Amino acid sequence: KAADSAMYQAKSRGKNAYYFYEERINAVVARKHTLANALRYALKENQLHVEYQPVVDLKTDQIVGAEALIRWNHPELGKVSPAEFIPIAESTGLIFPLSLFVIESVCRFVSKSRHQFNDDFSVALNLSPVILKQKFLLENIKGFLHQYQVPAKSICFEVTENTLMNEMERCIQTLNALKQLGSRVSIDDFGTGYSSLSYLSKLPVDNLKIDRSFIDDIVHDTNDTAITLAIISLAQSLKLKVIAEGVENQEQRLFLQHCSCEYIQGFLVSPSRPDASFMTFLNKYNRH
Ligand code: C2E
Ligand code: MG
Ligand code: MG
Ligand code: MG
Repeated sequence: KAADSAMYQAKSRGKNAYYFYEERINAVVARKHTLANALRYALKENQLHVEYQPVVDLKTDQIVGAEALIRWNHPELGKVSPAEFIPIAESTGLIFPLSLFVIESVCRFVSKSRHQFNDDFSVALNLSPVILKQKFLLENIKGFLHQYQVPAKSICFEVTENTLMNEMERCIQTLNALKQLGSRVSIDDFGTGYSSLSYLSKLPVDNLKIDRSFIDDIVHDTNDTAITLAIISLAQSLKLKVIAEGVENQEQRLFLQHCSCEYIQGFLVSPSRPDASFMTFLNKYNRH
């Protein structure tokens, strides 16, 4: 996007702008290069950790699960968003050690905290398409579940819509195997990709996560309202549960409750928190 707009500006400015465009491209490339190099050391140097964001059941107003989100705090670069470094990890191959780090962190967390969770509590983690199509992924997941004595049903795997449509065969194999183990599967950022609705009923999926972009203005933008209602009704027909992402205010929450959306996640309840802080929050929240 940055490159596109630089290109646009370059065109509208004529000759000199070419250099401006080139500078912008260089800056983007340099930043990627810096991050790719820094990411190599991030794991070894303990700069990465996993945080947990609560998921609330709208019927009971209880926290029934969490999403694991990776965090990178670099000593000089500061906090780097996963939206920026996950694509870099994917293109450099670092996504493999990074994903195993997340899976192991989640298993360790669940194993440590399980006695404080309800029986159907589940922790969701994001799986990049790059790793989802690897055969060894399944063996690694099984290995960690066994090592940490975590029941598969306590883990949910999130994949984006486009992933499923582009790599259908291989992804479905892995997801079927994960479901066979007893884990759950969610389609993340639902509504933003290109999904084939006819395939949806055949996919091994339990939940749809409505993308934040539809939730932002759900109360006032009639298009977003219509899309959200359509997703909820589709989910009901297919016996899937719906999680609304990015719920930031009470108005959105009440609206979603009114539309029979099952679960919400967002800053209204809490941002992601490190594991100990998440547990304190969970115990306080679920007391009422
Ligand atoms: P996602 O899986 O859709 O995760 C939800 C994102 O929305 C998170 O951003 C979360 O912090 C943010 N969020 C939650 N509630 C709110 C809200 O109320 N308002 C706003 N404005 N934002 C909210 P985050 O942590 O920056 O992650 C961005 C994306 O990076 C994730 O989107 C996911 O695609 C990817 N990602 C994060 N952690 C991992 C990971 O461990 N592995 C992989 N493969 N991808 C990850
Ligand atoms: Mg997600
Ligand atoms: Mg999402
Ligand atoms: Mg998103």
